[in-house]
Amino acid sequence: MIATVSCLVCDAELEVAAATEKGEIVECASCGQEHEVVDATDGRVAVELAPEVEEDWGE
Ligand SMILES: [Zn+2]
Repeated sequence: MIATVSCLVCDAELEVAAATEKGEIVECASCGQEHEVVDATDGRVAVELAPEVEEDWGE
């Protein structure tokens, strides 16, 4: 089963497997924004923008 949510940035449809668990990251195929799954119950999935991870290259 697949649940769908709208990308919070570009409104494209994201497909999220119903087996997805809270805390997983889903990337928008359209704009690349990462979303964190904050709720996944009974095939309904809620996402929030994932915090941006800034790479520290240790210059
Ligand atoms: Zn998007």
